[in-house]
Amino acid sequence: MTTPLVEMDGDEMTRILWKIIKDELILPYVDLKSEYYDLGLKNRNDTDDQVTVDSANATKKYGVAVKCATITPNAARMEEYQLKQMWKSPNGTIRAMLDGTVFRAPIQVAGIEPCVKNWKKPITIARHAYGDIYKASEMKIPGPGTCEIVFHGDDGTEMKETVHVFDGPGIVMGMHNLKGSIESFARSCFSYAIDTKQDLWFASKDTISKKYDHTFKDIFAEIYENEYRKRFEELGITYFYTLIDDAVARIMKSEGGFIWALKNYDGDVMSDMISSACGSLAMMTSVLVSPSGVYEYEAAHGTVQRHYYKHLKGEETSTNSVATIFAWSGALRKRGELDHLADLCEFADRLEKATIATIESGKMTKDLALITSLDDPEVLNSEEFIKAIRHTMDEM
Ligand code: NAP
Ligand code: MG
Repeated sequence: MTTPLVEMDGDEMTRILWKIIKDELILPYVDLKSEYYDLGLKNRNDTDDQVTVDSANATKKYGVAVKCATITPNAARMEEYQLKQMWKSPNGTIRAMLDGTVFRAPIQVAGIEPCVKNWKKPITIARHAYGDIYKASEMKIPGPGTCEIVFHGDDGTEMKETVHVFDGPGIVMGMHNLKGSIESFARSCFSYAIDTKQDLWFASKDTISKKYDHTFKDIFAEIYENEYRKRFEELGITYFYTLIDDAVARIMKSEGGFIWALKNYDGDVMSDMISSACGSLAMMTSVLVSPSGVYEYEAAHGTVQRHYYKHLKGEETSTNSVATIFAWSGALRKRGELDHLADLCEFADRLEKATIATIESGKMTKDLALITSLDDPEVLNSEEFIKAIRHTMDEM
């Protein structure tokens, strides 16, 4: 390696897996150059969360990070870790600093087939992570009256729309989004499509929402024409806009193998549909891509707290490390691409192939054994599974 990888360590069971993955699958094969940030909750608390900010700045500087799952504190964690403050979600902090979009795709393996049988290739979800109903103002309307939206411009502009003239009780919601955020979202999606050489779909409800959703559609169309069309045509990939309901119908009949960009709420709902249809959150890759082309790879699941408590009691765990391994392989491959290190890219490919081959040979963790179509799967514990991958890799 020539440029360091930003390494963000995390919490609980995934922190245990992190160390085993490094010791068994990375350090014996890669002359690893990494800048290490401990995002474990104790250290975030000790540093007043400065470590999270530092790790995001390092990611901006070097361009590629790999992140372990981390605890987002709640009331119970305040007590458990004796926290000075209920620190914000590290993912939220990093996402805000990198202004990125999260892309999630299932890791497909023979024996763990999606419920939708024509999905031959993964469908990658790109969810806009700002605004709409997640930053809305709501009211319960008590009785008859008129509800209006009013805009007071700093320059004196006044705009007013009637939402509804109520003749009885009801409800209202006011939501917003920002042109800059939608533009960043669009650029992240187009860049990622080019990067992974996949078609890009975007869907919203512009026929009903003629200003709100239509603005999303227009921004995507304009950025595509002005900045990306040529590259897409050279690569033989397409950008396709359609209505959200039409997209859902087409997805069910598709083979997969493309990126599906969605507004915040649609992305929330559809990503859960895709991941459940594909078996397990532990078989899902996740990468945050900033519009400027900075990448942060992680697993889609959390710290697997229940397994960690078993581990602390000295009980055996069978926690699936595939998503965390793919976070490492994704980050190493990207580092290899950026630094023109063919060996590093090949290693990342081999690590992924060995992981998939191990599962396809019938060796897997308990969560997969419960859903596999393979006969007589061999259930391994957390450490055995990682060692089995190492064995497969050495044979390869
Ligand atoms: P979780 O860690 O995703 O685990 C929920 C359940 O899903 C587990 O109890 C387990 O089911 C199953 N599961 C998830 N990952 C698995 C794996 N790799 N192998 C096997 N089974 C797996 O979610 P959580 O327990 O709700 O959250 C725990 C902590 O993670 C929280 O503090 C939360 O803040 C944090 N979190 C972090 C991130 C992130 O950093 N990206 C994302 C989400 C949550 P069984 O117990 O039935 O085996
Ligand atoms: Mg959700």
